[in-house]
Amino acid sequence: MIKRMTITLATLLLVACGGGEPGSEAATGPAAKTFKWKMVTSWPKNYPGLGTAPERFAENVERMSGGRLTVRVYGAGELVPALEVFDAVSQGTVEMGHSGAYYWKGKIPAAPFFATVPFGLNAREINAWMHHGGGLEMWREAYAPFNLIPFPMGNSGVQMAGWFNREINTLDDLKGLKMRIPGLGGEVIHRAGGQSINIPGGELYTSMQTNVIDATEWVSPYNDMAFGFYQVAKYYYYPGWHEPGAVLELMVNKQAFESLPADLQAIVEVAARAANQDMLDEYTAQNAISLQELIDKHGVEVKPLPDEVLSGLKEISGQVLNELAASDPLAAKVWASQKAFMERTMSYEAITDEAYSKARRK
Ligand code: CA
Repeated sequence: MIKRMTITLATLLLVACGGGEPGSEAATGPAAKTFKWKMVTSWPKNYPGLGTAPERFAENVERMSGGRLTVRVYGAGELVPALEVFDAVSQGTVEMGHSGAYYWKGKIPAAPFFATVPFGLNAREINAWMHHGGGLEMWREAYAPFNLIPFPMGNSGVQMAGWFNREINTLDDLKGLKMRIPGLGGEVIHRAGGQSINIPGGELYTSMQTNVIDATEWVSPYNDMAFGFYQVAKYYYYPGWHEPGAVLELMVNKQAFESLPADLQAIVEVAARAANQDMLDEYTAQNAISLQELIDKHGVEVKPLPDEVLSGLKEISGQVLNELAASDPLAAKVWASQKAFMERTMSYEAITDEAYSKARRK
């Protein structure tokens, strides 16, 4: 009886495969086609966190597709400069890019909302907004005119406020402060009376050492320790009010994506989602180790920004974001969606993670 069932099953399987030669379709049909793609990034090759995510993504895509889709990852400047990733993928020079949406504010006013905005969503919240709150649909809408399909692919978590050579006790202490802080956070510092300066990461150490700037933000302990800022700055302030959960992006050229068979498209999507979570996991694990080392080994003074300073910065941030929203209909739609989402998650966060963390410290 069992033997007969096995034979019947085997016959059924053969029929399902389209005849007497199982696998023949795979050898000659669309599944046999291979794709060799390139991905340009805005980071140095293999840069901790930001740069390891695209490498893991490429490894997983190759493994899951059995080598039918391979992605070669290029560091910033290898094929195109860091801030030309968007154009290179949009124009189809390469198929994929890894960067951060807030770099494209000049092209798309709503773009920063798909990365991070001052006093906006944290990592868990923005992931929820993207995947279960309509965020990703709006992001796709924003990038569609540029021939691009975006996917969230990494998150830094809450960053640090930065390295300061001046103590910040009141909002007035920000007056005249020369700080490297790009984007909307920089606009907030500017309105608070400071001077926001954008300097590439590689020049920050020297700029701090020679007092060209009084303060700099970068990322968080894992990346900051590697740059050696503890040797040229007195205080390390938290929290990173200006980048509470920076989303990194995978962007795929639309025609290239549509040329993939459905299974490879699914592999790209799932590998991006895995890399998205993995970057946050890497930062969570490594930041804790690096912070301890900064304190124990390098004697870094880690300080909280006073409540008064944070509430002042929050008020200015609200003005900056409302003005950005008023400048563009899509930005207005996205900010309204994020604000409504944040109202809900903040209430829930207060009675779950916030309440729990407080209880655990006691
Ligand atoms: Ca930063």
